[in-house]
Amino acid sequence: MSLLEQGNVDEKLTKLVMELRRRGLRITAQRLAIAKIVFENIKDHPSFMQILEKVRSSMPGISPSTVYNNLQLLEQLGLIKSFDVAGETRYDDIHDHINVVCIDTGKAFDLDDEEVVNIIKEKLSSKLGKARIRNMILYVECGASGPG
Ligand SMILES: [Zn+2]
Repeated sequence: MSLLEQGNVDEKLTKLVMELRRRGLRITAQRLAIAKIVFENIKDHPSFMQILEKVRSSMPGISPSTVYNNLQLLEQLGLIKSFDVAGETRYDDIHDHINVVCIDTGKAFDLDDEEVVNIIKEKLSSKLGKARIRNMILYVECGASGPG
């Protein structure tokens, strides 16, 4: 992880603590540890099972529902978002970007192009006014067969 990404993770954790405090929610070491792992891996668009596996490598006894509830909370607080790929929920970073999803392999990656994103926003606002973009997903086919 680069210094920039590490800074980004720290920033998100600070934001999380602020939001938890503001809402009178408990700030526990476990909650922060889970959030840290989520933020560190969010660029890979992980599924719930992938996140659970990462969390369990440092907290072996943790229950799936605890991890799930924490993911729900992070999403409610606006610190992550999610979308579906072939019926599976994938978690994602909230910055404005285009997600490229391969329907053959299920792989997802970010297309970070501010210029393109801004053009899409402009076109959209000329048609829909104040509509906010929730997610931009570009489905592609790479031709390889998927994992199942
Ligand atoms: Zn993304």
